[in-house]
Amino acid sequence: MTRRPIIAGNWKMNMTPAESVILSQGISNRYARGWDKVDVVVCPPAIDLRSVFTVLDFDKSNIDVGAQNVHWEPSGAFTGEISIPMLKDVGCSWCIVGHSERREMFGETDGDVNRKVRALVDAKMCAIVCVGESLSMRDGGDAVQFVCDQVRAALAGLDAQEVAFVTVAYEPIWAIGTGRTATPEQAQEMAAAIRATVAELVGQEAADAMRVLYGGSMKPENADGFLACPDVDGGLIGGAALKAEDFAALVEAA
Ligand code: PEP
Repeated sequence: MTRRPIIAGNWKMNMTPAESVILSQGISNRYARGWDKVDVVVCPPAIDLRSVFTVLDFDKSNIDVGAQNVHWEPSGAFTGEISIPMLKDVGCSWCIVGHSERREMFGETDGDVNRKVRALVDAKMCAIVCVGESLSMRDGGDAVQFVCDQVRAALAGLDAQEVAFVTVAYEPIWAIGTGRTATPEQAQEMAAAIRATVAELVGQEAADAMRVLYGGSMKPENADGFLACPDVDGGLIGGAALKAEDFAALVEAA
């Protein structure tokens, strides 16, 4: 089955609103023929979302805007949080959920991830669900079991139609921001295991249609090996998403 690739940039806590305008203009200036065959998504910090959406919408470059996190409740006494209606109002159609930095530093649990996915799917927004193992799990041989359990927890309660709003990003924690990457063989093994898990949950057809991304120090120089894997449908990019020329090169590679 041919799946449309995705290149998504996770800007993390980088770029002031003014800098975000320059970076999004730099990316959109590089928009070229061929980009319409890839889903291109940029995920800036929440405070930049409105300005990034305005730049990209004005340029009509078909680049989507995503958030890095969301609360599952639509409104209420949740100081510091951001809701789905707020994201939709500023033009967001995607949201990253369960990034390992949120799980590790902010105590986000599998249950929280599932509530966020449920709320995004109900709102017909696309969720990029991050899963990935630590180095000790990889070394202990438990990586596949751990990651597939994370997928089961994140997608609990979803049916095949709802899973169509979900993309899973396999991001081994030991490869994020470290300059160390998984090998394409490791990425392929895990992507295939994730797809098989989704098939168990909601059936083969939905699993075959779902996009699985690799993330972890992916850059123009190493992207080809990952993008050639039959079960890897693109990348979630951190550091290399902060330079317009690198991000554009990754879109071209996909
Ligand atoms: C990420 O944090 O999602 C990521 C993949 O980061 P990096 O590309 O910098 O490893």
